[in-house]
Amino acid sequence: CGIVGYVGDKQAQDVVINGLRRLEYRGYDSAGIALVAEGRLEHDKRAGRLANLEKAIAQHPLPQATTGIGHTRWATHGAPNDLNAHPHLGSSQRVALVHNGIIENFAGIRDELERAHHVLASETDTEVAAHLLELQVESGVDLTTAMQRVCQRLQGAFTLVAVDAQDPSRVVAARRNSPLVVGLGEGENFLGSDVAAFIEHTREALELGQDQVVTITREGVEVTTFDGAPAEGTRYHVDWDLSA
Ligand code: GLU
Repeated sequence: CGIVGYVGDKQAQDVVINGLRRLEYRGYDSAGIALVAEGRLEHDKRAGRLANLEKAIAQHPLPQATTGIGHTRWATHGAPNDLNAHPHLGSSQRVALVHNGIIENFAGIRDELERAHHVLASETDTEVAAHLLELQVESGVDLTTAMQRVCQRLQGAFTLVAVDAQDPSRVVAARRNSPLVVGLGEGENFLGSDVAAFIEHTREALELGQDQVVTITREGVEVTTFDGAPAEGTRYHVDWDLSA
């Protein structure tokens, strides 16, 4: 439902939680966050409103990190509980992923993963994408190439945003039939399902086209098609009045 991604020099936890709060008007069933800290993923996710996640983090603080993703869920597959909350992780907890939309062909992929002895922890359509993505990075490709390959297998509507514990320099996202916007900063970049996710940090935005993958680092933004060919989003300036 609501998605935030960040890489830069600020505390990713603050950027992600504030972004999710700005997306709160959409309503949701759960909220979650994943950070890349010293080669590990740290995450927390809770059923209910964002305040539940904030309370949990206050009790069990996450380490400092400058790369992270967050999600508020509008459940379509699986009950609105902690387990089905996003982010979803792969079996070796190397990749964390959040998703808006519906992956229509998830059941077949789930069978295939289970036959290969993957244990899926949730009832969501989303979790298969986290496992596929992790298999790709474990085969040696970077998260961008991994995302391109995974998207070629998925049907339906999706905005996906992911991080790799072994590569804190990037956050990678993709979209098909579901919105995704990049917020362009200086020494930092943002991802959102909506510009509200990053409006307090930048008003320079890049809207992604259909079937595109985007990689954000501190230094820049790279857009490709699902085939890996160079592509471009549409630049625009957001001129909302924040006090309105
Ligand atoms: N289909 C996914 C789920 O049920 C994502 C829902 C959403 O867009 O928040 O977990």
